[in-house]
Parts: sequence; C-alpha cells; structure tokens
Amino acid sequence: MSVLVYTESENGRFKKTAFEVASYARELANQLGTSVTAVSINAENTAELASYGVDKVLAVKNDQLNEFNAKAYANALKQAAQQENAGAVVLSSSADSKYIAPILSVYLNAGYASNVVALPESTAPFQVKRTAFTNKAFNVTEITTDIKLIGLSKNSFGLRENSASATEEAFTPQLDAGSSTKVSAVDKASGKVTIADAEIVVSGGRGLKGPENWGMIEDLAETLGAATACSKPVSDLGWRPHSEHVGQTGKPVASNLYIAVGISGAIQHLAGINASKVKVVINSDPEAPFFKAADYGVVGDAFEVVPKLIEKLKEF
Ligand code: FAD
Repeated sequence: MSVLVYTESENGRFKKTAFEVASYARELANQLGTSVTAVSINAENTAELASYGVDKVLAVKNDQLNEFNAKAYANALKQAAQQENAGAVVLSSSADSKYIAPILSVYLNAGYASNVVALPESTAPFQVKRTAFTNKAFNVTEITTDIKLIGLSKNSFGLRENSASATEEAFTPQLDAGSSTKVSAVDKASGKVTIADAEIVVSGGRGLKGPENWGMIEDLAETLGAATACSKPVSDLGWRPHSEHVGQTGKPVASNLYIAVGISGAIQHLAGINASKVKVVINSDPEAPFFKAADYGVVGDAFEVVPKLIEKLKEF
C-alpha cells in the first residue's frame, strides 16, 4: 500500500501546489508507515519532487493530455492508483483537481474529502479536518472506504523540504479515444503573477475612484512580487478585467498576504478571501466592515498611504 499524489503542472513546470500536496503526502505516508508515489503529467524537472519527500515518480508523457481533460486525467490516476495499490490519493483543492476528484472517487470507490486543512487526527478511524462555509468554520470528516481521497486546501499545509531522492518510471496509462480536449478559449498570458498562484495579492476597490488610479496598485504589487485583484463593482465598471474579480462570484484567493485598498469588505467579497492568511486593509472609513476581518488595518486615504508604503518598501 502506498500514498499516491497528483502533482499539477502548467507548461511543463510544477505549480506550487504540487510541492504542497507532496509535502502533505510525505507526512501522511509517515503516519501510515508507507511510501509516496507521485504522478506527473507532461512535467519536466520531476526530480524536484524528491525535495518534498516523494519516493517514486510515475512520469506520464502523452500529447493527448496536453490540454486538461478531467476524465482522462482521472483515468490515468486510477490506473496509477491500482498499479501502486494506493491506500490514499492526495490532490490539491484547485479548480482542476476539483473536477478530477469526483470522477476518480467513482472509479476507485474511494470516499472523497475536499478542502482538507490538516493531517488526519487519527488514521483508524480515518478523520480529517476540513473548512466549511467559505472558510468560516471547520468540520471533521471520517472517510470509511478502503481508499481515501483527499483534496488539500491551498496554502493550508505549507512546504516541508526533505532531502530524500526519488526513482522515476515512465508510466503509460491506457486512455480512451475521446481523451484529448479541444481548447476554444485560453487565458491571456500576461507574464504577471496569477491570483491562483500568488503568495501576495494587492486588491483595489471602488474607493480608488477610477481606472486611471490603478498605477499605484500595480506599483505596490510589483514591489511585493504580488498579483493584482479587485472587487466586483470594479470589474463590472470595466476598470479592471473580470479575471481579477475576487469574491463569492469571482475567484477565491488563498494567499499568505491579502492587501485590500479602498474595499468596504462586503460579505460577498470576504467569502472569496477568507482562506488568505494575513489580511491588511487600507480604508478611509474607520467603520468599514473590512476592519472586522482584518489582521492589520490602516485608517487613511489610499492616495496618501499607498505611495508612502511603496516608498518604504523600496528602501528594503
Ligand atoms: P464600495 O462598497 O463602494 O466601497 C468602497 C470603499 O472604499 C468604502 O469602504 C470607502 O470607505 C473606501 N474608500 C473611499 N475612498 C477611499 C480612499 N480615498 N482611500 C481609502 N478608502 C477609500 N463583491 C465582490 O467584491 N466580489 C464578489 O464576488 C461579489 N459577489 C456578489 C454577489 C452578489 C449576489 C451580490 C448581491 C453582490 C456581490 N458583490 C461582490 C458586491 C458586494 O456586495 C459589494 O457591493 C462590493 O464588494 C463593494 O465593492 P467595493 O468595496 O469596491 O465598493
């Protein structure tokens, strides 16, 4: 029996979540007294996984899997799980893995717990802690099937470096004829940090008055190596692209640091950023609801505070 982990990649490079799920799988395997096998799909530099405790990499190279297809990816993972006699399969709680996991759950007859934030409190019975109600509460879920399927919440576990080495095997799953995907729309590659992968997000709201004032948000983001985001009205007004809108109806953010500038903190906005670790709010209204959810707050005019903040940060 082993712990299988799906390590996501994009354009051949592992995403940060790949190293986080590998770190988690390593410690889960230690609890269970077993080894970790990672499945990589069309990724380069598979040796990087050893640094996070992977013992063996099953490297899939298949042009049919160049574009994401949940059913085909689940099929490949099913075959890997069967070959490795996996007792647990760990994936991220990313959008892609949330498509894969329910299909894999059916294929393997495995109970699936999504949004897991910690190692099992006990492995017999197998109980994991998960977030609920857009990260406002936790629950403990027991998985009773022989194979346990775990979706790890992003940035909940962190990276744990390990100095082991991994073996690598080519893995060639049998795929159905309909396993390739035709992509009709792709995200524009901007070269900037994306919201999903960002450690730090700088987000602007209607308090910034207009799109012409976004220069300081971009400057702050660039200084910190952060992604830029915005509230819903800002993207509805066309001040920023819809791809930057975060919240209940936009993208979820699970960054280590979220800086909100001129955003009131409506419940629909907070629903998307609750998973972020440290929230900093800059708002001229001391009664703005966002201050109740903030770890640090600055009551002040964004047009004075942000330039001073950039100036100070550039001194470092
Ligand atoms: P405002 O509410 O106008 O707040 C602007 C803030 O800027 C104020 O707090 C003000 O004090 C501050 N300010 C003004 N001037 C300055 C200054 N010079 N310096 C510093 N601060 C200043 N919203 C989302 O963001 N994401 C969602 O996913 C989302 N989904 C929704 C879904 C539904 C079904 C509904 C009904 C609403 C949704 N909303 C969503 C909208 C949400 O309810 C709020 O209306 C929205 O978040 C407010 O955006 P805002 O904070 O940018 O603007």
